Amino acid sequence: RSTPGPGVTPRTALTIAGSDSGGGAGVQADLKTFLACGVHGMSAITAVTVQNSLGVSGFHEIPAETVRDQVRVVTTDIGANAVKTGMLASAGIIEAVAGTCDELGIGRAAEIPLVVDPVAASMHGDSLLADSALGAVREVLLPRATLTTPNLDEVRLLTGVEVTRRADLRKAAEAVLALGPRWVLIKAGHLAADSDCVDLLVGAGGEVIELPGPRHPTEHTHGGGDTLAAAVTAALAQGRDLVDAVRVGKRYIMRAVAAAYPLGGGVGPVSAFW
Ligand code: PLP
Repeated sequence: RSTPGPGVTPRTALTIAGSDSGGGAGVQADLKTFLACGVHGMSAITAVTVQNSLGVSGFHEIPAETVRDQVRVVTTDIGANAVKTGMLASAGIIEAVAGTCDELGIGRAAEIPLVVDPVAASMHGDSLLADSALGAVREVLLPRATLTTPNLDEVRLLTGVEVTRRADLRKAAEAVLALGPRWVLIKAGHLAADSDCVDLLVGAGGEVIELPGPRHPTEHTHGGGDTLAAAVTAALAQGRDLVDAVRVGKRYIMRAVAAAYPLGGGVGPVSAFW
């Protein structure tokens, strides 16, 4: 991590995501990760989830105009060096976020990189995105993404491609790229048969990069996806190029999973790591 000295303005990153009252995922995970990675974190909250280690028992969506206004006021005053989206809850919020990104120069065709974590459900299977909003993720969000970071369930929901073995990952990546992001990182952590965890980064320019790592024997992985995408976003905010930022993010999540801890009666979170 490289933080400037006292009194010096650091690089900044913005997360547009949902609150996890249990503190393990969502906005809380993103802000912890941004801090640990040496950037100033900002948040535009899209939904307030009612959540603990046992799961999500409900959520309250924030009005789309309030989401848009949060993004506008922080980026026009403080400025964001990179932006990430997590839980977006509804098609209305997705459309508002997409329009605001265009207005503020955020996204693959613009100056400020946009990392889209296409969050659909929690690891307990609780829905975090209206079924009717999947089309908006495909049609208005992914075409604006510099990088998207789906897990295997999200790949299936977005493209219909079912990944059951490592050899399917390339086909899955191509199907996601056809929806318009510049890069896709397929998180293969749920390929349980593998003893290690090889994620695949593929670019629309033909780049193919395997990111191997050990599989840690922990069930406490709550917030893992958010934390990986947030670490990549922080590295982009620090000025790293995309491939380098994804390698930094992968290193960070491996350490965060290795340091995960039990909490409550259910699933504990991955840790922040200094
Ligand atoms: N709650 C919020 C607000 C999230 O954004 C996410 C994931 O992105 C989750 C819960 C689910 O996290 P997990 O699947 O790691 O339990």
